[in-house]
Amino acid sequence: MISSDRLYGMLLKEYGIPPWWSDDPFTVIFQAVLVQNTAWRNVVKTTEAIGKIPSPESIIAMVQEDLEDMIRPCGFFHSKAGAIKALAAWWMEHRYPECISDSELRSSLLAIRGVGEETADVILLYAFRRPVSVVEAYTKRLLSRLGYQFRSDDGIRRYISSGLSADALDYGRFHWLVLQHCITVCRKKPECSSCVLLGVCHHGREVLPK
Ligand code: SF4
Repeated sequence: MISSDRLYGMLLKEYGIPPWWSDDPFTVIFQAVLVQNTAWRNVVKTTEAIGKIPSPESIIAMVQEDLEDMIRPCGFFHSKAGAIKALAAWWMEHRYPECISDSELRSSLLAIRGVGEETADVILLYAFRRPVSVVEAYTKRLLSRLGYQFRSDDGIRRYISSGLSADALDYGRFHWLVLQHCITVCRKKPECSSCVLLGVCHHGREVLPK
């Protein structure tokens, strides 16, 4: 089966180097909550309507109902607004985390209501540029179709790490490329006939006529 470094190389060749989520860490944090259980296009639309992402200080000072109105199009606005307010306070405390280990940062994020493993890892990776793997539904679906059967998310993390350098840039690019591939080609109903991974894909070989 395909190794993660080969998978990374093939996706890079197909799509090119993807952009980084955002150079502003709090924008990453804000959008990482918005994107929970909704499509990225809703996050983009909401962010464009807001204009400028409010600073953590102004979010802390904001009445929660006003924040809820602001993010309403992304759904689950009550719980998301609560999480964003909690993360704004968390950010004020952890904005210079050089001396804090990945696992300590992750644990403190997971202690916040509304922050699950995927959101915590997205924040660690894209806001703090820590080399961690983001394991979400798209990654699981792609790897399963390629022929992998992992028993746990940690198994997926080990697979990803085994082929990447220790540079967070590679982790971010790998994750972004997997999303791109799964949104455009390896969708719920995959377009195997036009897929660059067809030659190395278990599912693709099974579904396409010989
Ligand atoms: S061949 Fe089909 S199932 Fe396999 S990665 Fe490509 S689109 Fe997905």
